[in-house]
Amino acid sequence: MSIKKVLAVVFSTLFIVIAVYSIYLTGYEKPPVDPSWAVEGNKDIPEGAVTVRWTGTSTLVISDGSSTIITDGWFSRPGLGDALLNNISPDMEAITFGLQKNQITNADAVFAFHSHYDHAMDAPEVAKRTGATLMGSPSTAMIAKGWGLSDNQITVVEDRQSYPVGAFTLTPIITYHAPTPTEGGKVNKDYEKITAPLVPPVAILDYRVGASYTLHIEHPKGDIMITGSAGYRQDALQGFNADYYLLGIGGFGGFEPAYQNIFWDQTIGLTQPHTVIPIHWDSLTGPIEGEFTGMMRLFSMIIGGSDNPDMIPTFFNNKAKEQGIKLITLPRYDEVVLF
Ligand SMILES: [Zn+2]
Repeated sequence: MSIKKVLAVVFSTLFIVIAVYSIYLTGYEKPPVDPSWAVEGNKDIPEGAVTVRWTGTSTLVISDGSSTIITDGWFSRPGLGDALLNNISPDMEAITFGLQKNQITNADAVFAFHSHYDHAMDAPEVAKRTGATLMGSPSTAMIAKGWGLSDNQITVVEDRQSYPVGAFTLTPIITYHAPTPTEGGKVNKDYEKITAPLVPPVAILDYRVGASYTLHIEHPKGDIMITGSAGYRQDALQGFNADYYLLGIGGFGGFEPAYQNIFWDQTIGLTQPHTVIPIHWDSLTGPIEGEFTGMMRLFSMIIGGSDNPDMIPTFFNNKAKEQGIKLITLPRYDEVVLF
């Protein structure tokens, strides 16, 4: 064989290997949850029942039929290329789709857990369309101002202050963001803030974290606790109770075992819910409808936690058994009765 032919074979083989590997890397891990946790939506919703709908990540709709609270309201889900290479802005069609799937026409409050793009990016537009008040950190307020949401629809929340919404009482508690690789894998107590109105399109990293909250939702029928990001602040949740705890576990599989245990103790341990609902375990770039997927393989390679997809189910099943707690995962969009 001539040199030319050998080179042609080598390069075309290399090309195929790279192509196949790229396809593999941009594919998705299986969901990091136990399939036996899944519950279905309820067909009959009793009058006045407190219900939840889940879109994915920590986008939830909680309603008692009279008042509706949306958390995050994130539907845009920019793809990998847009997220890494381009500037991003809210996807108006995706927001229309998401609101329709959740059967929302109006709402009372949109609460953003923190100001990263996968939480607060669409929140001002969702508030605009539903007539809701947007509640969140000073950084989230800057995203809202940049989007042109009127000041009387923006509430900058105070740590541990209570806000009534119909029969609900919302109490945001600062609990920090989960450790991220860009912050050396440590909980960052001096989180970065957005200090001027943010006008998209902007880079993904322009959505700086701001304060991260756990949200306590009190209702005469029962109490709900939601942590959007797998971070904690020592003893911050002391004195709060929850019947249901919706726990954001993004990145959990890649954390040190010591951190995993502290995170559990500082959330579930302190508030003693009867049921834990893991959220924010689905891929950020996965589609907005259909089955949930786990993390994109490329991301899980970067942030770790992909080595053992059964790590989270094992950890959670063990804790739940030890402490007599029920575990469930929600269906997509279908309404589930909590109380
Ligand atoms: Zn985040």
